[in-house]
Amino acid sequence: MPSDTNGVHSASESQTTAHTNGHPNAKTTAAASTTASKPRTGIAYAPAPESVKVDIADHYGHFIDGRFIEPKASRKSDDASFATINPATEAVITRVAQGTESDVDAAVKAARAALPKWSALPAVERGKYLFRIARRIQERARELAVLETLDSGKPIKESRDIDVPLVAAHFFYYAGWADKLEWVYGRQPAPVGVCGQVIPWNFPLLMAAWKLAPALACGNTCVLKPAETTPLTALRLAEILQEVGLPPGVVNIATGDGRTGAAIVNHAGIDKVAFTGSTDVGKKIAKATAGSSKKLTLELGGKSPHIIFDDAAIDQAVEGIVQGIYFNQGEVCCAGSRLLVQEGVISEVRKKLELRLASLRVGDPMDKNTDVGAINSKQQLDTINRYLQLGQDEGAELCSPSTSTLPSKGYWCKPCFFANVQPSHTIAREEIFGPVLSLMSFRTVEEAISKANNTPYGLAAGIWTDKGSKVLEVAKKLQAGVVWCNTYNKFDPASPFGGFKESGFGREGGVHGLRAYVKL
Ligand code: NDP
Repeated sequence: MPSDTNGVHSASESQTTAHTNGHPNAKTTAAASTTASKPRTGIAYAPAPESVKVDIADHYGHFIDGRFIEPKASRKSDDASFATINPATEAVITRVAQGTESDVDAAVKAARAALPKWSALPAVERGKYLFRIARRIQERARELAVLETLDSGKPIKESRDIDVPLVAAHFFYYAGWADKLEWVYGRQPAPVGVCGQVIPWNFPLLMAAWKLAPALACGNTCVLKPAETTPLTALRLAEILQEVGLPPGVVNIATGDGRTGAAIVNHAGIDKVAFTGSTDVGKKIAKATAGSSKKLTLELGGKSPHIIFDDAAIDQAVEGIVQGIYFNQGEVCCAGSRLLVQEGVISEVRKKLELRLASLRVGDPMDKNTDVGAINSKQQLDTINRYLQLGQDEGAELCSPSTSTLPSKGYWCKPCFFANVQPSHTIAREEIFGPVLSLMSFRTVEEAISKANNTPYGLAAGIWTDKGSKVLEVAKKLQAGVVWCNTYNKFDPASPFGGFKESGFGREGGVHGLRAYVKL
C-alpha cells in the first residue's frame, strides 16, 4: 500500500484531499519540507488498524436505578434523542436519549433512595465494589479504548495506553481509600449525599472515573451526565456497574446536552455539584448554586505556560512541548498552550519543533501509528479555525509543518504553532482547545514568571531547566495548580489536580480529592 511522506497511510488515498483546515496561509518551512520530502528514518509506516470490533446498539436510553431505560417509541424521534457521531468519519455511530427534567428527576430520586443503604455499608465492602469495577475495566480495556476513540476522535494509542489504564487506576486508588477515611479525618466522615456530576468530551471515561470513584468511596450516590458528543463509554461503564452488582441507584447516568446538565445542577435533590468544562458554563453553575446549600467544585479551562530556560536539555524539552500541546489534539484543559522560550535558545527550539511537527502523523485515530487524531466536533473545529484566522489577522505567523494527507471527511486540524506572538494577542490570552501553540520569548527569570502569570487562568505550568534551584524558585511563584518540571501532562490518581483563578476551585485526585465528597 502506498503511504504518504509522513507515514500516514493513504488507505483512503482515493478519498483524500489537500485539506487546509483554516491554515490557508500557513508557512511550510524549509526544514519541514526537507523532512517531509522523505521519511526521516527512511522507513514508511505500514497501516496498523485497530482490529477489535465493539458491539454498539442502534439507540441507548439512560441508566437509572440499575437498569437501562428503554427509550419509548416516541423518544426515538428527533427531539427525544440525538446522534453521536464519529468525528473521524462524520458517520452516525448510534442515537442516545436526550435527558429531560423528568428523566433527571427520576435519576435523582433513584440516587436518593439508594443513599441510606450505600452510605451505611461497611466501608471495606464499598471498597470491594470499587476494586471489582477497576478489575472489570481492565478486563474490558480494549473494548473501552476502541469505543472511546470512535466517539471522541482521539488516537487509539492514547485511549489504549493512557485514558483507560488511568480510569482503572483511579478506581483502584479510591477503592483503597474507602476504609481509611477515619484515618484521614480522625473519625468516620459522613458522605455529602447525592452528587450531580457534569463532565466534558475531551477525556470522557477518565472524567467519569475522576468524578465517580472518590464519590462512591466516601459513600455518596451519583447522577452523572457525559458530554453530548461523547456519551458512549459512560454508558458502557454502566454495563460494568451492572456486571459487578453495584446496588441499583448508586450510580445513574443521564445523557443529553447542556439542558440536561442544567437540570441536574438546578435539581433541589442534589447536594453537591462537580463540574468539569468551560469557564463560561462554570460561571453559570456558580451563579445557579450560589445561595443554596449545594457544595460545588469547578474544574475549568486554562492557558497554561510552558517555560523553556536556556539551560534546559532542548531535545527533551521539545518532546515535552509536543506532549504538552499536541496530546489529545490539544483538547486538554491543562495543555501547555503558551510556550515561553528564553531568547538565547528560541531559534533552536523553533527549528527542532518544526522538524518534530513534520514527523507527527495526523489522521485515522484507529490507526495505532497515529499521533494526532480528529477534533471532537465540527463546532470545536470551527472554534479552532476562528482562532487560526484571528491569530494571523492580529499579526502572528502561523507555522504548520505537517504534510500529512488528511481524509476528506472528518474534523481535522494539523498541529501547528504561532510565532511572533505578543502577550496581548487573543491567541495568547484565550483558550483555543486545539493543537495550536503560541510561541513567545523572555529574557530573565522574572520576566518568565511575570509573563507566565499574566493570564486569568491558573491550572498548570511547565518548567524546563537543568537547575533544581531554579525549578523550586520559579515553581513557587507560578499561580498554577500543577507545575510539571522537565516533563508535561503526567497524571497519576495519587496526585491532586485543580486550578486557581478562573480555572476553578477544588481538587480532584489524591487524598485531596476526597475532601469534596465528605461532610465533617
Ligand atoms: P461546556 O462547558 O459547554 O460543556 C461541559 C459539560 O457541561 C458538558 O457535559 C455540557 O453538555 C454541560 N453543559 C453545558 N451547558 C451547561 C449548563 N448550562 N449547565 C450545566 N451543564 C452544562 O464545554 P464544551 O463542551 O461546549 O466546550 C467548550 C469549551 O470549553 C472548549 O472550547 C474548551 O475551551 C472548554 N472545555 C474545557 C474543558 C476542561 O477540561 N476544562 C473540557 C471541555 C471543554 P453538552 O456537552 O451537551 O454541551
